Amino acid sequence: MLWVGTSWKMNKTLAEATDFTNGLLDAVAGGAPAGVQPFIIPPATALTTVRAILGPDSPVEVGVQNAHWEDAGAWTGEISVPQAADAGASLVEIGHSERREFFAETDQTVNLKVKATLRHGLRPLLCVGEPAEVFASGGSVAHIMAQVAAALEGVDDVGRVLIAYEPIWAIGEHGREAGPDDIVAVFAALDAEYGDRVEAILYGGSVNQGNAAETLGVDGVTGLFVGRSAWQIDGYLDLLRIAAATV
Ligand code: PEP
Repeated sequence: MLWVGTSWKMNKTLAEATDFTNGLLDAVAGGAPAGVQPFIIPPATALTTVRAILGPDSPVEVGVQNAHWEDAGAWTGEISVPQAADAGASLVEIGHSERREFFAETDQTVNLKVKATLRHGLRPLLCVGEPAEVFASGGSVAHIMAQVAAALEGVDDVGRVLIAYEPIWAIGEHGREAGPDDIVAVFAALDAEYGDRVEAILYGGSVNQGNAAETLGVDGVTGLFVGRSAWQIDGYLDLLRIAAATV
């Protein structure tokens, strides 16, 4: 199964979220494309709206972009995994490089969040990625394997985990598109260690309609995690079609 999804980051009003989700609802009315598992990760403000439109039995998984490791308490500004589940999420994005860089997310808090997510029966989408200088010095594989190992420390059953390899130098508007040669070694290492144990291993970073098929052709890539190119419904549906065509 190829997992193909998008996080909207801090974008979309409720009206925009509604438009996108209505378009997706129409597109999956007969079921998701064969072999493809779609998912969308709206901002928390739009979570219940998106879930209400899709309905409880939708083939589309819905997530949150972050959740705290405690179930409840004096953690101003945070939401917990049980709250996310209550609002309709089945998936929790954890450790995106923007969270690590701007919100002091560490390997330790990522690990706590992975455990909290699994404890409540949701699916962690664990994001890992190396900075440009690590890539340039040939340290990508070691960096990524260490990040994943730290995030999964003490987790016995990783069967529900999704790993998203998102090189920091490749994501966002200043990112450069990665070619297969840039990512093949990291995917070989991730696949060898985790390929038959986790749910999927996704690639993210400047994925678009022009490079998606080629990226999915890299050994060990079993999904795409997409930002800008999937923020408009037509772009996202194109990516789902491209993925389905590679199955
Ligand atoms: C991201 O920021 O995680 C991401 C994949 O973004 P983009 O596709 O826009 O590079």
